[in-house]
Amino acid sequence: MSDTFSVLGTDGNARAGLLRTAHGEIRTPVFMPVGTKGTVKTLHPDEVRDLGAQILLGNTYHLRFRPGDELIAGLGGLHRFMAWDAPILTDSGGFQVFSLRDTIAKVDDDGVTFNNVYDGSAARFTPELAAQIQANLASDIAMCLDQVPAADVSRRKLEDAVRRTTEWARRQRHAPRAEGQLRFGITQGGVDPELRRRSTEELLALEFDGNAIGGLAIGEDRALMFETTDWVTALLPADKPRYFMGIGDPEGILEVIEAGVDMFDCVLPTRTARTGSALTWEGRLNLRNAQYARDQGPLDEGCDCQTCATFTRAYLRHLVNQNELLGHRLLTLHNLRFLIRLTDGAREAIIGGTFTSYKRTALERLRP
Ligand SMILES: [Zn+2]
Repeated sequence: MSDTFSVLGTDGNARAGLLRTAHGEIRTPVFMPVGTKGTVKTLHPDEVRDLGAQILLGNTYHLRFRPGDELIAGLGGLHRFMAWDAPILTDSGGFQVFSLRDTIAKVDDDGVTFNNVYDGSAARFTPELAAQIQANLASDIAMCLDQVPAADVSRRKLEDAVRRTTEWARRQRHAPRAEGQLRFGITQGGVDPELRRRSTEELLALEFDGNAIGGLAIGEDRALMFETTDWVTALLPADKPRYFMGIGDPEGILEVIEAGVDMFDCVLPTRTARTGSALTWEGRLNLRNAQYARDQGPLDEGCDCQTCATFTRAYLRHLVNQNELLGHRLLTLHNLRFLIRLTDGAREAIIGGTFTSYKRTALERLRP
């Protein structure tokens, strides 16, 4: 058994585990809130911790350009900079570079050249630089630079992305890292069975500390995405953590947990909060709606968050419609708590051997 990760219980393919990092242990499955620019937008780190968040995501691309990873290194690393002493995972910047497609100047086998979104100046990411930036940030988990093609890309281009992602991972594997930093590989290949399998086998041969499924949840058919997740997860070694990149809707979380995924992240709970939407057991509520104008009920019956304990839907609707900062904050608090509770409940159910009924009951409530 590895020192990094232990599986403590399974139910079908779903697993409950413990991941050990330089800044503490993480109980899995775990939802990871996104703190793109060194902050979970609108929240104090103590609030994030009180929500039950165990690990945050930081963003290599954004922190590279503002305020700069060397500056953060000089100030003692990202944990100290943002006053978060629990684990941090940093992505490699690959997803950002390749999703900002219009800014890409050139992709070649050595790396990718692009114009950064802050001042448009030319920049280049290579696997070695992705490692160096993440070493400067001193995150607990660093990700490999990958090439993330669009969901509708041609097979030839998808094959190129798979080949480069492996080649880049091979190089990044030898690059220096921060002390105690774990490094995860990322598989690509979209929903193409042959390419996804090839990518997975090539990445597994490199023996990273954990394995991520990338390049899904980017607009492909959802049923096909879950089907792919099912069989890809089964290929991943049981004694290492498995990370599905970029899923955060309640149904999606339950599906990937069932497939045997341990970690997942998404901007959905924080981003939807800022547009006035709440994740609830009645489905997604748009608080801007007039039907809540006189609604004296809590946002989500049975939720234990500060927002639900204190405020009415009528008041939240008012804040959201006036674009009050407090509205963004209160919905962010609730949305994160909602997903963390859903995930914690899944973990308990896995340990108790009742995950199938937990998932079925949750889905019935979410889609009445
Ligand atoms: Zn709540």
